Amino acid sequence: MSSDFLANTQRYFENAAKLLKMPKEVATHLQTPRREVRVELNVKMDDGTLGTFIGFRVQHDNARGPFKGGLRYHHHVDAQEVTALATLMTWKTAIVGVPFGGAKGGIAVDARSLSAAENQALTRKFIDGIHDIIGATTDIPAPDMNTNGQTMAWIFDQYSKYHGYEPGVVTGKPVSLGGSIGRTAATGRGVVYATEELLKTEGETLEGKTIVIQGFGNVGTWAARDYVAQGAKIIGIADISGGYVNREGIDIEAAIKFCNDGDGTLKGYTGGDTIDGTAFLTTPCDILVPAALSGVLTAEVAKEVGAKYIVEGANGPTTPEADEVFDARGIHVIPDVYANAGGVTVSYFEWSQNMQHFYWDMEKVNGELRKVMNAGFASVHATAKKHGCNLRTAAFVLGIERVAAASELRGL
Ligand code: NAD
Repeated sequence: MSSDFLANTQRYFENAAKLLKMPKEVATHLQTPRREVRVELNVKMDDGTLGTFIGFRVQHDNARGPFKGGLRYHHHVDAQEVTALATLMTWKTAIVGVPFGGAKGGIAVDARSLSAAENQALTRKFIDGIHDIIGATTDIPAPDMNTNGQTMAWIFDQYSKYHGYEPGVVTGKPVSLGGSIGRTAATGRGVVYATEELLKTEGETLEGKTIVIQGFGNVGTWAARDYVAQGAKIIGIADISGGYVNREGIDIEAAIKFCNDGDGTLKGYTGGDTIDGTAFLTTPCDILVPAALSGVLTAEVAKEVGAKYIVEGANGPTTPEADEVFDARGIHVIPDVYANAGGVTVSYFEWSQNMQHFYWDMEKVNGELRKVMNAGFASVHATAKKHGCNLRTAAFVLGIERVAAASELRGL
């Protein structure tokens, strides 16, 4: 599965490199990660047994700035998945023009099986293993699947034991520890801004649009809230417990409260009919937002998708074969490397605030995020027009060109 994900990201890169007529040795240099680290993590579990886990950090490229990318705690995490995600970060930061490179990390663990104490111990062990390769001007982790502000707070604290006070070592921190206002909502909010920009090119708005969202975590819930605020109707939500569809519209705040009051999932939610798997992803709607896992939109699923637009909140949800089906069916796809870049953009704002010890208000954060997302869309759209390609290939072309130019100037 994760080897497919890596092969898919490589294929997207190759499509763009071909369009750019990039020499093979340059393509090889750009695709090869600078450093791949694997650490053994031993943790005393609550029941007294010894738990052994593997943590990864892949630093893909830093020609345009320090390595940057999230940390994922999930049982699927392996070297290939982390490498694929690290390369996507390199293109993503370049596409939206934030001065970072690309990295990713993770621990292969079923995060839901950990107690808070085990989670904290594991996180601190991970930082013991990688503290000498991260830092505010070298490599800056952030949250991803099953990690959050609390995880970042532990990382900040553990890192400071080795290197002193350096809040910019990690982003996505709680606001009380130097996090940015608006960071938690940023990825989902950016997904909505991206959708609005695409709709504008078709003379449309979000008002009255029907939306189906897979994944009801950080990205999914914040995107849902902002879609509703713009007049759209969420008719389907799904998480690890299953999918729930209600054509009258789902009460998003009530669904979030249901999760928060329960085990953190939608298990037992009664606000919609239970519809799982492919049937959920193919629910007729205007906009489909995959915001959970990679590889869920395969060619088979793509043939049945009932949406006119797809906005990739998740990283790598669409396979290259599915992308071809969407192209053939005239379904517009806003690719992950641009669509979910709101998170790293506000991470950049957080990092700049940390460097200056000067903090912004919500209006400033959202206004700057809007500017970055709109400028990113304009560049991707113009690149698509120039090369006569879809938005994904255009986004890769743009990101790769910018990284290649920086790399060449630095003499790498
Ligand atoms: P999260 O852990 O907060 O939420 C993940 C959601 O996916 C949960 O609701 C979970 O139940 C659901 N899920 C897991 N397995 C599922 C399955 N089999 N079917 C349906 N739903 C399932 O994670 P997140 O931060 O929201 O990240 C989601 C995606 O967005 C990931 O691909 C991540 O890489 C990407 N992303 C996140 C950020 C960020 O800032 N958090 C930024 C960019 C991209």
